[in-house]
Amino acid sequence: MFPSKIENKSIQKLRQNYIIILEPVSRNFYNIFFVGLLFFRLFSCIIWDMDKKTLQQILNREAAMIWDSLCEMHPRLAKFDCPQIRLNGRLWRTAGKCYQEDNFIELGTKFFASPKNRDTMLNVILPHEIIHQADFDLFGLSEKNCGHGVQWQKIMIQYGLEPNPHHTMEIKR
Ligand SMILES: [Zn+2]
Repeated sequence: MFPSKIENKSIQKLRQNYIIILEPVSRNFYNIFFVGLLFFRLFSCIIWDMDKKTLQQILNREAAMIWDSLCEMHPRLAKFDCPQIRLNGRLWRTAGKCYQEDNFIELGTKFFASPKNRDTMLNVILPHEIIHQADFDLFGLSEKNCGHGVQWQKIMIQYGLEPNPHHTMEIKR
């Protein structure tokens, strides 16, 4: 009987300790919940910031590689710099935009949220936009307002992509 008494006592003590811990926890449940939420948001912001930095590095590297292979196909391009890649968090319908006269490309940050769209962004949209720049550097303004003229289409095919001006990715606003 002796050991079980000790057990009982220790269980009682344990209970008391639980009460000491649990009571303030339940009393302050909402405070703790909201502080937790605040920390979660803060950390997710920090992680997203790091992600954006990594994403920017990946984009710069990919863009340089695409530009290199375009320069091999069209040696005249070597005189021009690879366009700068910028992320834009406000784009949601347009996945990418090429500002040919200023030599930079904007890509919609939101499109990188899903792995499937990320692949499309890197393998289709990024070369698509860079080829707009190459087309402009090599042949000047396109005969088509949208920029998807004959020369753009030719470079797209040379690069190994379908000269399709539209993407099929869908994202929430
Ligand atoms: Zn286009």
